Amino acid sequence: MNKPLIIGNWKMHGTSASSIALANAVVTGVDADRLGSDIDIVVLPPALFIPAVAECCAGHSVLLGAQNVAPVAEGACTGELSAGMLTAAGCRYALAGHSERRQQFAESDALIAARVLAALDGGLSPVLCVGETLAERDAGQAEAVIAAQLDAVFDVLPEALPVELVVAYEPVWAIGTGLSATPEQAQAIHAFIRACLARRAEALATATRLLYGGSVKPDTAGALLAMSDIDGLLVGGASLVADDFLAICRLAHRRR
Ligand code: PEP
Repeated sequence: MNKPLIIGNWKMHGTSASSIALANAVVTGVDADRLGSDIDIVVLPPALFIPAVAECCAGHSVLLGAQNVAPVAEGACTGELSAGMLTAAGCRYALAGHSERRQQFAESDALIAARVLAALDGGLSPVLCVGETLAERDAGQAEAVIAAQLDAVFDVLPEALPVELVVAYEPVWAIGTGLSATPEQAQAIHAFIRACLARRAEALATATRLLYGGSVKPDTAGALLAMSDIDGLLVGGASLVADDFLAICRLAHRRR
């Protein structure tokens, strides 16, 4: 079994002060229950607050990541932050292809693939988000959509991967809606994703951690984490409440 990974995506919420308070509450809870001993716990603050949150996390077992990463290493790329800048600020992970980026900012598969490559080149572990809309699911196209999203990235990755990869299955219809996929629905897609990766390389399929994301709450996390192909969770709304996020981390810790 892969080491569980729980990521809290704070999206565009909060202030510097509230981000520091949230980070300190998470760090305190993680330390108190030694949760970081056998699971990886990551928070993704708004980019502006990464340095302040990095100070809160320094010396503790809460890791830091970014909600996006530039598709190039440096240069004329207004408004973006490079993988080098993010690693220098203490980040270890970066999302690529979150559905809010795909939908609200029309990010294409090609751009997302470039972001994943740039993350890897800059020493970040990319968290590639994939998932279908409700209309695509209802039309029986969920697997085809996800396979295309995976192919767009994995077709351009080098064979020998320098850093670990994470794929997050986030059905668009479940993000921020309160409508989580059932554990069985999530497991079916995770098994499909693992099979897609295995067709490329068995080692890629076993080493890549597969996360589920979409309205995860403390009362739904345990059943999702019990599924054999779910290595962890990408948590949005519930990660903004320290007690809820810690409760989810405790469930992952118990699974070990
Ligand atoms: C997310 O933003 O990746 C997410 C899963 O959000 P929520 O948990 O709020 O659905």
